[in-house]
Amino acid sequence: MKYIGAHVSASGGVENAPVNAHAIGATAFALFTKNQRQWIAPPLTRQSIDLFKSRCVEFGYKSSMILPHDSYLINLGSPDSDSLQKSRDTFIDEMKRCEQLGLDRLNFHPGSHLGKISEEESMKLIAESINIALQETSSVIAVIENTSGQGSNLGFKFEHLKYIIDLVHDKARVGICIDTCHAFTAGYDLQSKEGFSKTFSDFERIVGFKYLKGMHLNDTKKGLGSRVDRHESLGDGMLGINTFRWIMSDTRFDNIPLILETPDESKWEKEITFLKSII
Ligand code: MN
Ligand code: MN
Ligand code: ZN
Repeated sequence: MKYIGAHVSASGGVENAPVNAHAIGATAFALFTKNQRQWIAPPLTRQSIDLFKSRCVEFGYKSSMILPHDSYLINLGSPDSDSLQKSRDTFIDEMKRCEQLGLDRLNFHPGSHLGKISEEESMKLIAESINIALQETSSVIAVIENTSGQGSNLGFKFEHLKYIIDLVHDKARVGICIDTCHAFTAGYDLQSKEGFSKTFSDFERIVGFKYLKGMHLNDTKKGLGSRVDRHESLGDGMLGINTFRWIMSDTRFDNIPLILETPDESKWEKEITFLKSII
């Protein structure tokens, strides 16, 4: 089965996310479980948790169809010990919020070395951060998103993802989310059929599809290898519609949340309808 949706608003409370997803015909969704631009958030209320769960049941959303995303402030590979500690504390809180909501995965960006330490040193910190968070929680999977490699962001090469996974003790609780815009702008061709095939055979060889716990379906304003992260509506960018046809007709992308993070929210319903039509 293909689970298709978008990163919907949880404004007014997490319990509104499944309603917003259902309203656009989504069979999957992403959400922030707290304000993504703040370090500290009030705990989820019992009422909010109960309503979120009952609405997911009502609209048919299982945890394998939901991909929560963590705060943008978190840098699990930070060279600065204060900011690293703050990031780890907030990340653990986010992982716990997922568990409270009955969710089984949390999507996050690996981190940035900020030009102060080497890529390897920063990736070791990221893996250590994941290990700490897994110890503090019981079931949620830490899902690392590939990046465009903008600035000093790590995770733009499959080798980075592999390096981090290798250092995580509990391999059953680490996963990957591939963002099509990020992959392309990081230098992985997804625009030609040959490029698409090679990119995902490289992914299988270096990381492995068994780790794939979600996808972000975004077209891109910027070109191959530009290392600039600017999402575009499907078909309106440098990728074009074929990339998404190939994903929809490929069983390697079954049974995981496939999430739109395209900039024009008013197009999501149409984009979802289109994606469903080309499965
Ligand atoms: Mn992201
Ligand atoms: Mn993304
Ligand atoms: Zn992005």
